[in-house]
Amino acid sequence: MKIKAAVLRELNKPLTVEELELDDPKSNEVLVKIEAFGVCHSDYHVVTGLAKQELPVVLGHEGAGTVIEVGEKVTNVEVGQNVLLNWFPYCKQCPQCFAGNTNHCKTYMEMLGKGKMLDGTTRLTDSNGRPVLQLSGLACWSTHVVVPDIICTKMPKGTPPEIAALIGCAVTTGVGAVLNQATVHEGSSVVVYGAGGVGLSIIMGCVLAGAEKIIAIDRSTAKEAIAISMGATDFLLSSEDTVENVKELTDGLGADYAFDAVGNTDIAQMLLPSLRERGLALLVGVPPTDSRIQIDATDVFRQEKRLSGTIYGSVDTEVDFEKFAQMYLDGKLPINKLISKHYKLEEINKACKEMLDGSIARGVVTF
Ligand SMILES: [Zn+2]
Ligand SMILES: [Zn+2]
Repeated sequence: MKIKAAVLRELNKPLTVEELELDDPKSNEVLVKIEAFGVCHSDYHVVTGLAKQELPVVLGHEGAGTVIEVGEKVTNVEVGQNVLLNWFPYCKQCPQCFAGNTNHCKTYMEMLGKGKMLDGTTRLTDSNGRPVLQLSGLACWSTHVVVPDIICTKMPKGTPPEIAALIGCAVTTGVGAVLNQATVHEGSSVVVYGAGGVGLSIIMGCVLAGAEKIIAIDRSTAKEAIAISMGATDFLLSSEDTVENVKELTDGLGADYAFDAVGNTDIAQMLLPSLRERGLALLVGVPPTDSRIQIDATDVFRQEKRLSGTIYGSVDTEVDFEKFAQMYLDGKLPINKLISKHYKLEEINKACKEMLDGSIARGVVTF
């Protein structure tokens, strides 16, 4: 069938919205009509080349839609169901899955990480007959996708597609980081660098966990109102004095937890200095491939500060996607507040630009 999708043909160039040919789903594959997708900074890392990916490729890894056709042997979803698209499915059969570390399962990542389906091919072809890759095996910056069935997760009835889409990346990454990896404790102090989709999700998670002081930091004053409305107790505009300002707000000690929601090495190096003794720093945003950070060994040794990371919120996607959707429906996670602007597919370059400007929290494209 003919579809429309946002294609990246050259690094650091605008995306082109093109008509592509989408093949029918093969065995264990599903055709999904995309209803909504989020514009995530990680997609843009592909545009700049910070994340390596062969081109041409259709971007998009934060999406949700409706199943309109299933291939042979598909048993987990049916036609008509609303599904979230998962960029990190797991196999349940490898040592990591058996150990409960399902977000470290490598079984599907080799192919999906290259932008290919599990048989090593793609379902997309351009008007010159050239294959077009699918980011994360998913490629949801598109009107329709064919994806492996394991990528599709059923959503509770009544979950709006744009909410499901954001659970597919930003919300799970941020809320999961707080609840699963940091296990932020009640009454604690937290500093969150970056108040975009992931940073605001971290703030939502900290509110749920009962953190007492939640300091949001961003380079744009446009984020102050939304950060405060989502539960941040303080907002700082990033500056040379940021670490000192964090200390001032935390009795001169530093915070119990520090999160980098951006994936920036300069920020990563500010995390340990922002902490008090025994504090925990987490890299949550995607750092550039092969980047290095410098840390003060004394911070780790004498101050017993800890530095770790979290991929996809260290969640079990099979359990937590549905849990987060239900928490939204129950009014416990105000995911709708993350969405500051809606776009059309044709406006994808504008959506990317406004994300980079730092003026919006999460932009979503709806159909
Ligand atoms: Zn993302
Ligand atoms: Zn596995």
